[in-house]
Amino acid sequence: MSGEKDYYKILGVSRNASQEEIKQAYRKLALKWHPDRNPDNRKEAEEKFKEISEAYEVLSDPEKRKIYDAYGYDAARQSFGSGGFQWSNFTHFEDLQDIFNGFGIDDILRGFGFGDVFDYRRGGRSSRPRRGRDQEVQVTISLEDAYKGIEKTINVQRYETCSVCNGSGAAPGSAPIVCPQCGGKGVITRSAGFFAMQTTCPRCGGVGQVINKPCPNCSGAGYAPVTRRIKVKIPAGIEDGTHLRLAGEGEQVKGGRPGNLYVLVRIAPHPIFERRDKDIYVKQKISMYQAALGCEVEVPTLSGKAKVKVPPGTQPGAKLRLKGKGMPNVRGGSPGDQYVEIVVEIPKSLSSKEKELLREIAKIRGEDILEKSKFWGF
Ligand SMILES: [Zn+2]
Ligand SMILES: [Zn+2]
Repeated sequence: MSGEKDYYKILGVSRNASQEEIKQAYRKLALKWHPDRNPDNRKEAEEKFKEISEAYEVLSDPEKRKIYDAYGYDAARQSFGSGGFQWSNFTHFEDLQDIFNGFGIDDILRGFGFGDVFDYRRGGRSSRPRRGRDQEVQVTISLEDAYKGIEKTINVQRYETCSVCNGSGAAPGSAPIVCPQCGGKGVITRSAGFFAMQTTCPRCGGVGQVINKPCPNCSGAGYAPVTRRIKVKIPAGIEDGTHLRLAGEGEQVKGGRPGNLYVLVRIAPHPIFERRDKDIYVKQKISMYQAALGCEVEVPTLSGKAKVKVPPGTQPGAKLRLKGKGMPNVRGGSPGDQYVEIVVEIPKSLSSKEKELLREIAKIRGEDILEKSKFWGF
């Protein structure tokens, strides 16, 4: 027994973490434990990477997570076979691909020595189409926009198939020629002692063809940078830090499917409202008389002004709830509430009539107060 593993601890999330939080935590840790970023402790990085991937495998799957929550580590690991978690048990290579932004995860795993496992799962590396890089853009919106939902137009610079050569990379009127180095095979054979090693042809990159007259627009690359205006629907109730995924709006790549565009939505801090999850908090000043006797005040909400009854005897810091006046629920379901936090103001200056009345009250209540002359000086 290698002991129990606490998957939540491994990913550094709470036991009631949402799927999104689990994904974010895994993303952060996967980037941290990338072996190329840990050249001094590569071995440890590989171990850690495997461990967080095991935790992610279980916690990102609602069924497996349920089993783990109910019956613990031993029950959860049974699905991995007697040897415990292996890379062949991992089913989220697509997520890793996204995390590493289109740098083939197969290359990363090859660095780990798990390349074969990956090939086995994918039915061979060569059958995998190439994929354009994912891109991320950030957009900042106001809390009001997040409350109502908004459509934003963003400018995205990305590589697209060159419109001059249609992606061939050859100048108009010319055509690619058979690669002179590999004779069109795309690979070259080198002998190293007893072994014959095949490697990808460095001249044509395995394509078997080279361009002798490159396209003037893309210099032979087949794709060129273009600025696109893209409309993004931001749903009402969106949370700060959400990544919206626009499938296929990332970089295009020759002979492959395009990457995805991720729009990172940030919500600017608001001068009066404070958001906590779905709920909105706002501070409201009242006088000590209003607090003692009760009152009705008008408070701002994200959907306009609302009246709040402050009951007599309300204490400083009391939170009065306005049901349903918080943020809409981005996942559907009931909206949040607004809490009005009461700030009781003590008057700083009083008229002589007011002072007299307050002294009268203090006397009735038998409370000890400063003598007139000692403080107010009259
Ligand atoms: Zn071109
Ligand atoms: Zn070649």
